[in-house]
Amino acid sequence: MSTNFASTHEVLNQSTPLTGHNVYTGDAALRDAIAFNLPNADDAPRAALGALLGSAPMQAHARLANIHKPELHTHDRFGHRVDTVEFHPAYHALMGTAVEHGLHGTPWSRGQGAHIERAAGFMMFTQLEPSVLCPISMTYAVTPALRGNPKVFGDWFDKLASTRYDGRLLPLADKPGVTMGMGMTEKQGGSDVRANTTRAEFVEDNAWGRCYRLVGHKWFFSAPMCDAFLVLAQADAGLSCFFMPRVLPDGRSNGIRIQRLKDKLGNQANASSEVEFVDALAWLVGEEGRGVPQILEMGTLTRLDCALGTAGLMRGAVSIALHHTSQRKAFGKRLVEQPLMQNVLADLALESEAATALAIRLARAIDRQGDPFEALMRRVLTPVAKFWICKRGAALAQESMECLGGNGYVEEHGEGVMARIYREMPLNSIWEGAGNIMALDLLRALKKRDDKRSDALQALDTELAPARGANADFDRFERALFARFADAADGGDESGARRLAQDVALAVQAALLRQHAPDFVFDAFCTSRLGGAGPQVFGTLPASTAFDPIIRRAMPA
Ligand SMILES: Cc1cc2nc3c(=O)[nH]c(=O)nc-3n(C[C@H](O)[C@H](O)[C@H](O)COP(=O)(O)OP(=O)(O)OC[C@H]3O[C@@H](n4cnc5c(N)ncnc54)[C@H](O)[C@@H]3O)c2cc1C
Repeated sequence: MSTNFASTHEVLNQSTPLTGHNVYTGDAALRDAIAFNLPNADDAPRAALGALLGSAPMQAHARLANIHKPELHTHDRFGHRVDTVEFHPAYHALMGTAVEHGLHGTPWSRGQGAHIERAAGFMMFTQLEPSVLCPISMTYAVTPALRGNPKVFGDWFDKLASTRYDGRLLPLADKPGVTMGMGMTEKQGGSDVRANTTRAEFVEDNAWGRCYRLVGHKWFFSAPMCDAFLVLAQADAGLSCFFMPRVLPDGRSNGIRIQRLKDKLGNQANASSEVEFVDALAWLVGEEGRGVPQILEMGTLTRLDCALGTAGLMRGAVSIALHHTSQRKAFGKRLVEQPLMQNVLADLALESEAATALAIRLARAIDRQGDPFEALMRRVLTPVAKFWICKRGAALAQESMECLGGNGYVEEHGEGVMARIYREMPLNSIWEGAGNIMALDLLRALKKRDDKRSDALQALDTELAPARGANADFDRFERALFARFADAADGGDESGARRLAQDVALAVQAALLRQHAPDFVFDAFCTSRLGGAGPQVFGTLPASTAFDPIIRRAMPA
């Protein structure tokens, strides 16, 4: 019973906020996925990070960074252009924590396993605050692509991997650590970057290689206070990739004009801008005319983060729904004891665990850079995971919110975390390759080579093998899926590409759950997603489902 009395009534039967919990030790699905993909690794650092990220002081930073939005200052009061974005101190506290824990470029300086460790950290951090992870993710993604310019890579790598954050705009030499962003999207085309009109004109060869002068714009340019960017522009030989620092080696500001900040649905703590390049100097990365493959190397990594980030948001939403329904009573019972609510909660928990399994699996494919089988899985699972996890995320957030009733919809000065999650969800699906682009990319990955079954298909066959024979629904589903691949391997029916991406995702999720989730999770997943009509509205699991154990496993405490 609450001791909080209003003058007209006593406040009763309201739940408490979910705070002071450990987002690692309280997440059995994540722990099992890590134990499977990174066996024998020490849990202690993850548990320490999990405690920090669930703590009240960090949650306060997340709230403040979201309600005090970034502000653009184009000029100082004397009329000089400054092009800076001012953030609340809470934003810098969050950035500092993410960098200190190596969620940006750091894994590239560490050995095998570092990308899986980082994936776990990224997923956990997302539950605290997703939008500051935009520059963190971009820094992670651009770091290996910078190898395309060995001189720039040599000068910048250590600071991209450094675990010291410094939010000031200073020359590279004066900063202990740096971040990077990327600029591809222009007004006339984002998915189809070949439409870019920004022009690059060769100036000279100098200490960082081939230097160009860029004139043009970017319509979306997130985290414009990063220290440098990878951008696309048209050079004489075609679309090319360039390294563009904000401060030039001689200490002058580069010609990057921030026109305005986007007024976004969510992602409030992060600044996303529109910029113009006014004779901005930039250095070629890779070969002139080969900008698209160069940028795609980076895209694979940001797409991983879209999958990880959404899986983290899903876990955050389900945790809050479980926490609330364990306290709130209606019609004589706690909500979590009502049979129909149990169905909803168990279904949400299955979806969240399957998303975690697939996202962490993809991180393993990225971690094992030299392994040919993992290279094929990276090629197939990147579009599949980005497509399916992000698509399910928005639906799951809506249903999790509904578990809280009216309170789920209320923000109250940023205290309503569920509303923040809901507003964030669609973003990972749109940026870095929207749903259709991902599904079409899967068709390309499966295309036959030299009239033979594609290697990617062979790899998928190996990936699914551990679940074969364990569940009749799985076996039927897998057989039907492979029969449809004959068409996909020929180039495929574009109009059916989403269905194919969905079904590959479901099969791989089931195979992963078979290997590192309890049987009651694997069986319920196969029955509800692979048998019958496939994924439906949440809360439609058959009555035979093991509701109690699924819910107990997913409880955040
Ligand atoms: C908050 C936010 C931050 C962003 N930050 C950045 C950033 O920092 N840097 C950056 O470069 N970009 C950024 N973006 C841009 C983002 O990556 C693009 O919006 C996205 O790639 C889609 O491009 P577009 O907006 O031009 O849409 P379009 O390319 O016009 O696509 C519109 C729709 O058409 C579909 N479509 C396109 N082609 C096909 C096809 N052949 N068949 C079927 N369907 C198709 C797409 O799937 C999509 O649903 C950001 C976007 C947002 C919302």
